[in-house]
Amino acid sequence: MPDIQTPKLSTAQLEHERLVSLINSMVDGVVAVDERARVALYNGAALNILDSNSTIQNKSFGSLINLIDANNQPVDIVEVITTTKVATVNRDLRLKYADGSAINLYLSIAPVHLGYGSKGERGYVILMRDISREKSLEEERDEFISVVSHELRTPIAIAEGNISNAEFLVNRGSNLEDIKGALKQAHEQTLFLASLINDLSTLSRADRGVLKVDVEPINVHELVLQLAKSYTPDAERKGLKILTAPSADLELLQSSQLYVREILQNFVTNAIKYTETGHITIGAKPADKGVYIWVEDTGIGISIGDQERIYDKFFRSEDYRTRKNNGTGLGLYVTMKLARLVHAELTTKSRINKGSCFTVYFPNLK
Ligand code: ADP
Repeated sequence: MPDIQTPKLSTAQLEHERLVSLINSMVDGVVAVDERARVALYNGAALNILDSNSTIQNKSFGSLINLIDANNQPVDIVEVITTTKVATVNRDLRLKYADGSAINLYLSIAPVHLGYGSKGERGYVILMRDISREKSLEEERDEFISVVSHELRTPIAIAEGNISNAEFLVNRGSNLEDIKGALKQAHEQTLFLASLINDLSTLSRADRGVLKVDVEPINVHELVLQLAKSYTPDAERKGLKILTAPSADLELLQSSQLYVREILQNFVTNAIKYTETGHITIGAKPADKGVYIWVEDTGIGISIGDQERIYDKFFRSEDYRTRKNNGTGLGLYVTMKLARLVHAELTTKSRINKGSCFTVYFPNLK
């Protein structure tokens, strides 16, 4: 058999091959440039980020990338690179593409000895990563913190003001009714704070996916009557009635007692909050492999535009009648999360100034 001669790679070539396969296996875009920021080496991920499908060898890095800073000002990247003395990292840049789209870019620049071409030539290694998703999560988190702290501040300020007023009235020996009035207001704000914290804690558990669904048989007829009973005092305080309409042929529902109740409670408290005259009806009827339960009110109603947004985090209608009531805009968002957990489907029907009807289809989970 004739000898098959496989060409032997020199040590330097082997090293080079290793290096190329190493940088090609990286998920981050890597570009090595020379002293004048011309491309010497790059990987596939860099081509993806730069949205280029041809070779970028020897091209000036500045001609390949259109960057803007946090103040929307264009960045002279060649100037930035060639004046870099020590490794730097930037997370506030945006890379704009020709079609007008943009991504948030993580960009690190490190001066290195490239050791290619003429001896001792210096250069830079640039690392690029699309961090748009992390950035949007960061922005959402910042907005969340700012809205929550704002929502907490107002009731705390009102409660604090009323308590110190009550103290002042006691010291002055004022009449009991004034003192009671101040304490009542402080109490209401404290209850509101408790409900806000409750919503936040349910929300964070739902977001982390740690809420457990314990399926058990639920007597829907009884549940409807219990809900009506427990919310009647709240309704009566506003001169409203709670009616019930459970159909006679309801069967046991297999679902989570806790979440079904919590979902319906959110609808009932909203119905009371956003109804000025009339009544609230809690009804239920059998459905295919489950049950329909609805909460209907004769309240202020929701405009068609707002109906699309009521399940959004922190959304509250601009209607002054909505703003008269305490609210966080989290109730229906939490409701929607809980509904997903028990595979429930929500439908809203509403007419401004006529009233709203929230219907939930709860499927049997076993
Ligand atoms: P909150 O009641 O704390 O504002 P929700 O998430 O429970 O927050 O509701 C979001 C918004 O949907 C409310 O601010 C209100 O504008 C509207 N909404 C909800 N339920 C009703 C209802 N029964 N009638 C009228 N508007 C409603």
